[in-house]
Amino acid sequence: MADNYDVIVIGGGPGGYVAAIRAAQQGFSVACIEKRTHRGKPALGGTCLNVGCIPSKALLDSSWKFYEAKEYLGEHGIKLNQNQPKLDLQQMHKRKDEIVAQLTGGVEQLFKANKVTWLQGAGRLQAGKKVEFAPGEGDKQTLQAKYVILASGSEPIQLPVAELHEDVVVTSTGALEFESVPKRLGVIGAGIIGLELGSVWARLGAEVTVLEAVDTMLPMVDRTVAKETQKHLKNQGLDIRLGARVTGTEVKQKKATVSFSDKNGDHQETFDRLIVAVGRAPCTDHLVSGDAGITLDERGFIDVDSQCRTEVPGVYAIGDIVRGPALAHKAIEEGSMVAEVIGGEHTQLNYETIPSVIYTHPEVAWIGKTEEEAKAAGDAYKTGMVAFATNGRALAAGDSGGLVKFVADENTDRILGMHVVGPQASELVQQGVIAMEFGGTMEDLQLMVFSHPSLSETVHEAALAADQKAIHAVNRPRRKK
Ligand code: FAD
Ligand code: NAD
Repeated sequence: MADNYDVIVIGGGPGGYVAAIRAAQQGFSVACIEKRTHRGKPALGGTCLNVGCIPSKALLDSSWKFYEAKEYLGEHGIKLNQNQPKLDLQQMHKRKDEIVAQLTGGVEQLFKANKVTWLQGAGRLQAGKKVEFAPGEGDKQTLQAKYVILASGSEPIQLPVAELHEDVVVTSTGALEFESVPKRLGVIGAGIIGLELGSVWARLGAEVTVLEAVDTMLPMVDRTVAKETQKHLKNQGLDIRLGARVTGTEVKQKKATVSFSDKNGDHQETFDRLIVAVGRAPCTDHLVSGDAGITLDERGFIDVDSQCRTEVPGVYAIGDIVRGPALAHKAIEEGSMVAEVIGGEHTQLNYETIPSVIYTHPEVAWIGKTEEEAKAAGDAYKTGMVAFATNGRALAAGDSGGLVKFVADENTDRILGMHVVGPQASELVQQGVIAMEFGGTMEDLQLMVFSHPSLSETVHEAALAADQKAIHAVNRPRRKK
């Protein structure tokens, strides 16, 4: 093993592994230090591939198929024997684990192909761009780099009033592994993880109660979309209690009794399993030594500029440990950007056009300003909205809940934001990303031809609706110019 590299990356998640590969593509000698083990084996891919985006989406897709078979196949004229699908949860987990193994193994292959050295163990930045490497087994070593990229990711925030307890009170990681469907499942936090994993287990038959401290559903989401989302999740059996503050948890005989208070007083509920999903915090505790010159803020984040430079020249930080949304695609693009900056390229990332998605059913996706944000900013704005119920493709698929909404500048016609709750929202929102990246207007989308029948026609119709020109919706009378 060499002790001198052009680039050392600490963390092999989506931010770190992409940075390592892109740096190697440019001819740098690169080592990536990753300490994670998964199912007893060293693993690349970080939170995202091992215990985050990928396994959760595998379970979301599988559980939706089960739910769809139970609730909706009949209306398509498809009857199941004895009318009920049978759940094989072991097989569902096996399929999820195989997808994870395929993807994490794929990153390992990409490292080999790009000659990135994977150092299995923990890394810690020291002064002078030295990195202390503590392998899983054996003595610590000191490595020297010209450039260091910190990409150590995040971990679940712990809640003192709901301490983790074996397989009863768990984080998202434990909630991806339940060996049976809990009869009663409690979730603390109606954020992205709470709603996604609550959905998985509700679809598989659990009675799910979500306790959310804030009294607004999805405060970061456009109000029209948030209300529509809440309605659909309620129909799927998620009992979301807003304004519910958890005050304590007691585990007895493998059940968790949660005490909480809301505007109606104090309450207790007993659950077979409890998921704590109240946010994630950066993993920076042991990442930098005191003399490294990097200061952490009070929440553990590392301060960086728009190109992820830290205060130490040649040291960069990316992904969940720096400002901005804690999303895999943001970490990936920061990894790529930093490697290119190191390579002397002119590059940048537009933080204004990073989409967000919640993979519930229907999916929720958005980019840019909500109507409420446009109003609060005093913008002269207009909105255009259309329901999927007016879309032939959505009706044909039997999946016509939800809507598409645009917020646009009243004077310049520029798109300020796009908000979707509905089928394939994660894909549809990308049209808004592309349009906004190109400085697109409502008129641009109005004049484009969208294939028929397609879900994308709702994007066209919502753009038309912004100027009272939608065909499949009742428009307000058009103003005379
Ligand atoms: P991570 O993926 O956390 O990777 C960091 C790696 O660094 C880890 O493997 C860790 O072991 C390693 N490490 C830490 N410290 C050291 C050290 N000192 N030495 C060596 N190695 C170290 N985001 C989305 O965009 N879409 C989704 O659908 C989505 N779903 C999610 C579902 C769940 C259940 C969870 C928990 C998260 C989800 N996320 C999703 C968020 C996403 O996983 C993160 O934003 C993303 O993984 C961050 O990437 P990262 O590279 O910054 O860090
Ligand atoms: P979150 O910030 O999305 O939601 C946490 C929720 O918990 C909030 O609504 C908050 O008000 C609530 N909360 C906090 N303390 C509470 C308490 N004491 N009692 C009750 N409620 C409380 O966090 P998360 O759901 O844990 O997810 C963490 C991050 O992981 C996300 O913000 C996101 O960046 C990422 N993630 C993304 C995806 C995706 O892109 N689809 C999926 C999962 C996770």
